[in-house]
Amino acid sequence: MEGFDMKCGEKLEGVNVQVVLRCRPLSEEDEISRTPTVVTCDELKGEVLAIRSIGNKQTERAFVFDKVFGPTSQQVDLFTQSISPLVSDVLEGFHCTIFAYGQTATGKTYTMEGGKMANNGELHSDAGVIQRSAQKCFEELEAKRAKYIMKVSFLEIYNEEITDLLSSKKWEFLDDKSTRRITLMEDGKGGVFVRGMEEDIVYSADEIYKILDNATTRRHSTANLLNKHSSRSHSIFSITIHIKDISREGQEIIKIGKLNLVDLAGSVNILRSGAREGRAREAGEINKSLLTLGRVINALVDESSHVPYRDSKLTRLLRNSLGGKTKACIIATISPSIHCLEETLCTLDYAHRARNIKSKPEINQ
Ligand code: ADP
Ligand code: MG
Repeated sequence: MEGFDMKCGEKLEGVNVQVVLRCRPLSEEDEISRTPTVVTCDELKGEVLAIRSIGNKQTERAFVFDKVFGPTSQQVDLFTQSISPLVSDVLEGFHCTIFAYGQTATGKTYTMEGGKMANNGELHSDAGVIQRSAQKCFEELEAKRAKYIMKVSFLEIYNEEITDLLSSKKWEFLDDKSTRRITLMEDGKGGVFVRGMEEDIVYSADEIYKILDNATTRRHSTANLLNKHSSRSHSIFSITIHIKDISREGQEIIKIGKLNLVDLAGSVNILRSGAREGRAREAGEINKSLLTLGRVINALVDESSHVPYRDSKLTRLLRNSLGGKTKACIIATISPSIHCLEETLCTLDYAHRARNIKSKPEINQ
């Protein structure tokens, strides 16, 4: 393990946060009703322009990101250019986390879980970050003839309560909510573990596609209540890989890589959504956890002495993967539609703030 730690230090300096922007195409309905677009993407410059028109006066705001994926970008482009390198780090034994952040219906789930995909062992062009990451892990491990064990877990956080999306047994007792609830425990060493969480051992990418499909189907079909929750809950799909390796000193070591794929709850504009009391509390809870995530990322990149992990379940859950020498990528998703302009500006501001804090040159690699 000593040798392995040294390797971490050589390769990754502190927390490295990359922020990329993805703008979805207009929906079919928007196309039919000729909804004006107010966002332009310059993929070469990595720049997004948001244009507001009041009367015949136009104001423009420009935002620069590590990468910009415009409305015609494909799933494979985003994966190859921004995610694939992180998956390689995971296979070297690092912890990486990918977040999809944005207003509801801007493509967070499409980006992470993909559209309808063929599950016959081949990747459909619509397949998302989760399927592509899984496939890359298996392909590379098999090519290296590595000895490894891969496990997956799938959790959901709604209103600060954690649910296990893999737990088939517990789903049968859906009415008794307490049976599906699992709790976060401190391990006494500054880390956190989840009591009662199921982890499935997987042997092929195909198995991961099926697990994901089953969990998603259950999530959408079990109850209208849950369906409604899905855009207001965070989901965290984690792949953990234990890989046998030989250290430079010739000793056998186990590298543990972890990839967290987080589909965040849709950011909510409380004033605009006209939320009544119940909804407002829910919206407040979502915004609070998204703000906490922003603060945690800021504190880590600034190497601040206090990192407010404890302020939300999401950051507590990701604590082991978000400190120390880890990498994160935020995929901010927006719509180009004029009707979404206010929310789009909020997303661009949030994502840009996360990027601005990259002050150290070695982090800009
Ligand atoms: P979110 O998870 O952010 O609420 P979804 O991923 O569910 O949004 O996307 C809403 C709808 O828009 C879905 O039908 C999805 O297939 C479609 N969509 C989103 N992004 C894209 C994209 N980049 N290309 C094509 N369709 C997209
Ligand atoms: Mg979604």
